[in-house]
Amino acid sequence: MSGDILQRLIFDLTPSSLPSTSHTVLASQVPILFREPYILSGYRPIQQNWLCYLQSLFQKHNETLNVWTHLLFCPVLLLRWWANIGALGYTLDAACLPLILYLLSAFAYLLLSVAAHLFQSHSEHAHYFFFFMDYVGVAVHQYGCALGHYFYTSEPAWRESSIGPLYLPGIAFFGWLSCGGCCFAKSRYQRPYPIQRKICQLIPNSLSYFLCISPIVHRLFTVSWTQEPCLHFYTLQIALFLLSALFFSCHIPECYFPGRCDFVGQAHQIFHVLLGLSTVFQLEALSQDYARRRDTVVEVFGEKQLWWACVSLATLFMSSILIALISMWYMNKKLQGTEERDK
Ligand SMILES: [Zn+2]
Repeated sequence: MSGDILQRLIFDLTPSSLPSTSHTVLASQVPILFREPYILSGYRPIQQNWLCYLQSLFQKHNETLNVWTHLLFCPVLLLRWWANIGALGYTLDAACLPLILYLLSAFAYLLLSVAAHLFQSHSEHAHYFFFFMDYVGVAVHQYGCALGHYFYTSEPAWRESSIGPLYLPGIAFFGWLSCGGCCFAKSRYQRPYPIQRKICQLIPNSLSYFLCISPIVHRLFTVSWTQEPCLHFYTLQIALFLLSALFFSCHIPECYFPGRCDFVGQAHQIFHVLLGLSTVFQLEALSQDYARRRDTVVEVFGEKQLWWACVSLATLFMSSILIALISMWYMNKKLQGTEERDK
């Protein structure tokens, strides 16, 4: 279905009392920092009141669906969580800590992404600040996923391999490096972005991701799928994530239809939906594994290691915030220098 048919289907149903496209401007009317490739219209003007950007949650502009495609996954995850509580019967003890941390990390990446897409148009300072915070959410979620995979998914043979003992420190390091690489690339390179920017973003993120799914891949190849239905959810999780990475890297379909996907159908919206679905399937798989292994988790890993997981997630969160703030301090100085030169 082409972008403009989808646009008509979605936006023609919005109440007429809400502001229309006339409240948005063309790409040529916003600074180059805010322009997205092949997105020609639907930009919110910069330097408006913060409340205007909050209200724009219910208005038609080229970020509306980027916000909603992550915001709506929060209630979906909560509903699945409650449904699983009813079906599996959680007990609040050390064994469920990794699952709770996983869920919190998913909310962190979803809500920080929502904030970035909702408020980034306020100013160049806001744009950098909110996207740096978005990268913090990604790093935290990588580690949240790793906790679930390590404590619930991994097989003893994988944990006893050379990867096992290095897994959690490795993900923490690559998660931190991903946040640092993305912040560095965002502050260092300007539009039109050179290939080096993608390299700084993709290499640490890819290393982190492939290490993160290593317990799943090991299990997919060593365990019978008929005995463990959750392996289908893990497969869907990986397939959807890899597909989402494709849409994140390429501007498909808008590169073929410049200006026709300004409101609906952008690659970034498709990326958000696929990533959100990947998270839903991951929660299903982890919940099933938790139900199967909850009685042995404390015995296998020890309560101390489970509590240590909480501390390490909080430490990664704080150190990623620190990177984001240092990057913001650098960007403030850079933007101040540009503003003084332009006077
Ligand atoms: Zn996004």
